[in-house]
Amino acid sequence: MRLRLPEERPTEPPTGFKIAHPVLSQDGTRAGFTGVSLGGALPYGVVADASCVYGRRHRSPARRCDCGFHCVHERATAEALLCVAEHRAAVLLDITVLGTYIRFELGFRYARQRVRAATVGPCACGARAVALADAGWGRPGWRALAAACAGCVRGRTSVSLATFARLAGDGLRVVAGSGDPGESGDSGDPAATVDPGLPEGLGVPELVAEAALLQARLDWFQSRLARLEGGGAEQ
Ligand SMILES: [Zn+2]
Ligand SMILES: [Zn+2]
Repeated sequence: MRLRLPEERPTEPPTGFKIAHPVLSQDGTRAGFTGVSLGGALPYGVVADASCVYGRRHRSPARRCDCGFHCVHERATAEALLCVAEHRAAVLLDITVLGTYIRFELGFRYARQRVRAATVGPCACGARAVALADAGWGRPGWRALAAACAGCVRGRTSVSLATFARLAGDGLRVVAGSGDPGESGDSGDPAATVDPGLPEGLGVPELVAEAALLQARLDWFQSRLARLEGGGAEQ
């Protein structure tokens, strides 16, 4: 006897939520995500096809295998995963489920996805993120990134949220999820982030000039921050 699941023919592709770590390619020219589960070793782009993580020759999702992309139906279910210690630096992704999918009680396992939006939580210090900065770990060829505010980004390799969105491409939106509610805009402050996209072959004078520019931007940002805080806060 062969058990068949009922087939669905939705008029619009289903949507869901998941969490992932943002990643930046070693050369700083590409951005994507890597999953938080054991099967999530391979970074993926904004629009991506699943392949069997066990290297089996079948299409994902296969009924007798647990490979394929995963997401949950409810935003709150995905947000709950961000409470887990090792997921604190992950970001929340809004997903469009494309291609074949298998529906579960909590979500989908599926063949192809588009990441529509990434919501970046606050910096580890609690302030609103303006950048995604080197998190200190990664995959071969990819650095994992984590939310950073202007005060904590310092000299780490980082990209503004807007730059991350541009490098990831395919219409991805990247927004800072929480922090100071008085702030507006989702592009971060480009003056406070370090653009890793410096051209190759810069000599010492150019690099010195670049460093001076970065220092000037940092000084400008800190003086503005000090004014906003009434000059009372420690820097
Ligand atoms: Zn498989
Ligand atoms: Zn911070």
